[in-house]
Amino acid sequence: MPFTVLVVDDASFMRSMIREIFARGPFVVAAEAENGEEAVRLYQEVHPHLTTMDIVMPQMDGITALREIMRLDPAAKVVMCSALGQEALIAEAIEAGACDFIVKPFHPGRVLRVAQSVLGLNEQFLPMARPEAPREQR
Ligand SMILES: [Mg+2]
Repeated sequence: MPFTVLVVDDASFMRSMIREIFARGPFVVAAEAENGEEAVRLYQEVHPHLTTMDIVMPQMDGITALREIMRLDPAAKVVMCSALGQEALIAEAIEAGACDFIVKPFHPGRVLRVAQSVLGLNEQFLPMARPEAPREQR
């Protein structure tokens, strides 16, 4: 059974990219939101295993949405998506309950490793996220 993901980003190409990355692992993107308000609403509908949360978005930013989601579900697993130079915002998000963060531009292996670690998955479920395994010697 795949793990469900809610992808939150105001840029549709970014959402598509994240969706493609998750398709390489045992995940299914159950919903996409383009602002914080939509994220909070969809979180309550979908109850995803994992949420990826952009920080800078119109209407409601990612940190405000994170706080709202953590208030609704203290066990929520939210990974922040940041751009370079947003260290202060990342620190604020971690303080507010975010599990981890990924930095744009996204590296598929890093995204999958973070998702795996946040959900406590065994590495064997994510072959794409692992470095090349040594060939078996016979
Ligand atoms: Mg954005």
